[in-house]
Amino acid sequence: MMAKKSGLPEFLAFHRPYLGSEEIEEVVDTLRSGWLTLGPKTARFEEKFAAQVGARFAVATSSCTAALHLSLDGLGVGPGDEVITTPYTFPSTIASILYCGAKPVLADTLPEFPNIDPDAVAAAVTSRTKVILPVHFSGAPCEMDSLEQIASRCGAAIVEDAAHALPACYKGRAVGSIGRASCFSLYAGKNITAGEGGVLTTDDGDLAAQARIKRLHGISRDAWKRYTAEGSWYYEVQDLGFKYNMTDINAAIGLHQLDRVKAFHERRLQLVKLYNDKLRTVEGLTLPRPPGDVESSWHLYVIRIDPDQAGVSRDSLIEMLKADNIGSSVHFIPAHHHPYFQERLGWSGDLCPNASRLYRGAISLPLYPAMSDGDVEAVCASLERIVEESRA
Ligand SMILES: *Cc1c(COP(=O)(O)O)cnc(C)c1O
Repeated sequence: MMAKKSGLPEFLAFHRPYLGSEEIEEVVDTLRSGWLTLGPKTARFEEKFAAQVGARFAVATSSCTAALHLSLDGLGVGPGDEVITTPYTFPSTIASILYCGAKPVLADTLPEFPNIDPDAVAAAVTSRTKVILPVHFSGAPCEMDSLEQIASRCGAAIVEDAAHALPACYKGRAVGSIGRASCFSLYAGKNITAGEGGVLTTDDGDLAAQARIKRLHGISRDAWKRYTAEGSWYYEVQDLGFKYNMTDINAAIGLHQLDRVKAFHERRLQLVKLYNDKLRTVEGLTLPRPPGDVESSWHLYVIRIDPDQAGVSRDSLIEMLKADNIGSSVHFIPAHHHPYFQERLGWSGDLCPNASRLYRGAISLPLYPAMSDGDVEAVCASLERIVEESRA
């Protein structure tokens, strides 16, 4: 293979999860135990997760998408209701609203950061607004004080898409303990993983109880115990449920990933500082700066390129990084750009201009605890060289 100018001998993946021997041994223990699906390890994982974010309840699910659906469903969101959310998100945020038969209403992002703009939310409120669904982009909490004010004025609940936001704080409050419900993701690419999985956290006991029932076919609470010595064969369907439970195999991984939250976070902060120091002087790049009194989880390091100043387009830059053995990505293609949502909801590409502008310049650089300082330095050197050569 030809030597890469970055000096990286192997392709630097955009993301790679860190899994230790603890995770592997716990999974093997689960396999040997004979209990594979929702059971005691999921229960332990839930207790530990709730403690991590300071919530009264944590309900583990098969995904963050499932947790979002259960939250909205549990709050009674249905046909005729509107849910105000951001275009700057993964499509499943929008899908979770559509699953309920409700109407997603987009509020544009802030001009300089892809979090929802509270003024745009206030302008989108109608008598049908039932929930406000902010997304803490890259783990930087949204302006929750303003959103809470708007929500309490119009009688709406706040459900947070916190897929990126472990661990994150807004004015010293941990995400997961702020809104009526917060939904986290344990997908392989997120800050911690269970392979796949999600968690709904809430202080609302009724919402948690209902989510527990509906994540497993709508059958009576702790139905899984019917296969153990303390259980019995009898169960009742209490509601129309889904198949949204976590499994103990996934929980086995998640239990030990939770032990790593602090160390992972500290490593992310070091890598972010290194990126900031090295990229500050590169022409045409805007570095990520979460607004407000927040502590971001730094799930993503998203730079913004100005093609005129940098002399290279966003899309070419991604290709040139790839040729240099560096993986990158784009977060996110805004919801109003996707053809299905456009057709179904009458959205057009110019609906949310701030989100569209931020998207057009965005590149997510690799950022994960398994990276070395040398990896970050190689990415920065490559970016600097590409911009220098392109401007020449
Ligand atoms: C990853 C992600 C989701 C979906 O998470 P899953 O666990 O894969 O369902 C939802 N919202 C955002 C913002 C995400 O990044």
